[in-house]
Amino acid sequence: MERLMRAFMRASNHQRPQVSRNGRDSLVSFAQRLVRTPSLSTQEGEVALAVQEELARLGVGGAWVDRVGNVVVRIGNEAGPTLLFNAHMDTVAVTDSGAWEHDPLGGVVKNGVLYGLGATDMKGAVAAMVYAAGLLQPYADALRGNAVFAFVVQEEPCEGMAMRVLVEEEGVRPAWVVLGEPTDLQVSRGHRGRVMLKVTTFGRSSHGSQPEQGDNAVYSAARLIFGVEMMAGTLGNDPVLGPGTVALTQISSRSASLNAVPDQCTFYLDRRLTLGETPSGALMQVEALIARENIQATAEITRYCGQSYTGYACEVEEAFPRLGAGRGSPARRPVPAQRGARARPPAAHHALGFLDRRRVHGGRRQHPHGGLWSRRPEPRPHHARTGAGQGPVARC
Ligand SMILES: [Zn+2]
Repeated sequence: MERLMRAFMRASNHQRPQVSRNGRDSLVSFAQRLVRTPSLSTQEGEVALAVQEELARLGVGGAWVDRVGNVVVRIGNEAGPTLLFNAHMDTVAVTDSGAWEHDPLGGVVKNGVLYGLGATDMKGAVAAMVYAAGLLQPYADALRGNAVFAFVVQEEPCEGMAMRVLVEEEGVRPAWVVLGEPTDLQVSRGHRGRVMLKVTTFGRSSHGSQPEQGDNAVYSAARLIFGVEMMAGTLGNDPVLGPGTVALTQISSRSASLNAVPDQCTFYLDRRLTLGETPSGALMQVEALIARENIQATAEITRYCGQSYTGYACEVEEAFPRLGAGRGSPARRPVPAQRGARARPPAAHHALGFLDRRRVHGGRRQHPHGGLWSRRPEPRPHHARTGAGQGPVARC
């Protein structure tokens, strides 16, 4: 963060800001406070308040909470181009706190590493960006452009929604975007897209003692699931973004009782999209599988419904575009060329991401974007066996 801020200042031909030792200590304390403050998606209010308080304490004025609950502050010359720093305030839920070596809400620092839910993803980045804003504030008048720090909501269940509100409804138009997602401080450019698919198979119920009279919807689902597993090895690949992937993430069935043949089975597929793959193409692959197996089933792209802590309600299709990595796209250019035109739609914004995972451990879970950052796969931290589940997610 410091390095990036220095570069920004160099562009402004001004001296470089430094973080003092005291500043580092209070930054770590603030990161601990954030980890200790629960902030499930749609319940980020308390963390939003903490962010505002810390910004004010650091002398950064003018922060506002937008309609969806993002905390936003702009520093510098509004007439110039905007460099936007983005960090999300929400986390997923803890499903089994006993599986954590450290209390997920404890915010413990041990041997220079901060442990806790969201420490990596991405309260460490929230804290770093709040302090970066504090560092930058004294130089606001010297900037050619402006930096916008956006601490956003509901990223875990619906990435991009809060940024859409910021860009399309709040009028913030960044030329560059830096995401604080964990990448071991390696610059990673672009990320895969995502689409959530819901597949439902239909059968006929019968008494469990006479299964031959029914049509077991779970058996039909099992055939499709096997097909999905086979499909996984045939998906697209890209040297920058990595492979397209598919993961079955949830399954449930409907039956009148434990001695009745289920007449319906539903499962969800988390499909990550690499170069050349699209949400509609991913849906068509599953539809083709259903047709090939000649199974009575439907496949659809799910919709996310959520109401933010400020009361902003949204409903969006859970299909999120891939960013970058096309031929000649910013993901394939050298890092210093990361520049885009102003006022582009959000999908066209150039995004960088970084956070040092060696200093923050957030639990066992891989990043929900499933290898969002293309440079390297996320290692599985050794200190926790299991832990985090999805927060309060509503599907329409
Ligand atoms: Zn994240």
